Amino acid sequence: ETDEVLLQLDSVSVGYGGTPVTQGVDLTVRRGEIVCLLGPNGAGKTTTLLAISGLIPLMKGTVLFQQRDLLKRSPDALTRMGIVHVPEDRSLFGGLTVEENLKVASRDPEDIARVLGYFPKLGDILDRRATVLSGGEQQMLALARALALRPTLLIVDEMSLGLAPIIVESILPVFRRIVEETGCSVLMVEQHVRLALEIADRAYVMSRGRIVREGTAAEIAASLDELRGSYLGVQ
Ligand code: ATP
Repeated sequence: ETDEVLLQLDSVSVGYGGTPVTQGVDLTVRRGEIVCLLGPNGAGKTTTLLAISGLIPLMKGTVLFQQRDLLKRSPDALTRMGIVHVPEDRSLFGGLTVEENLKVASRDPEDIARVLGYFPKLGDILDRRATVLSGGEQQMLALARALALRPTLLIVDEMSLGLAPIIVESILPVFRRIVEETGCSVLMVEQHVRLALEIADRAYVMSRGRIVREGTAAEIAASLDELRGSYLGVQ
């Protein structure tokens, strides 16, 4: 973790069909940091991630990545710049095998071997089609494929959706290793708040389209009871 700012959102408003969902979001991710974006359903977390990845246009504000303005860059261009997004639905190629899905991201055998090092289980099921994998295996494959693209910033939306807590507990710590070994940064939306805060450096809490709290993971974890009452709903 360094002080170098990798991603900076300034007063970002973004939404759908001319109606803003987020209002004036300021958010920073430094190099080598794991940052968590928390908040109740409908707060605008996914929408914020989509805006960073260029999948929906900004209405107001700026997004800087390595001091470059991301406005008007296509999602493909952003991926080449190192912003790799793992969406909520995982977007795997169901008809392709584990190995084929990885090869879509990189033809370099070293990349494939490297990412299998983080998820050894996938190495045992390389010939299996993505559709028949368990939820946890699919999520590992989605993450492995993203890592094969050598991200500078890994954006992960609700990785644990539909996964048993025990699977989440086994996958989340891998992020720490990835960050330490590759120097990339992670921005994640995660419903398993406590587990996420255990591996994160900092967190933002979003409610109704605004950032209502930010702090170190330890600070946010310490005020979780209060945040649950006011912002985080029944989580
Ligand atoms: P969740 O945990 O439920 O995914 P979230 O914080 O990620 O919550 P968003 O998915 O960003 O919230 O949704 C924020 C608001 O934007 C919601 O009111 C939602 O109905 C609306 N919204 C999301 N996607 C679209 C869309 N494609 N068109 C119109 N409105 C949308």
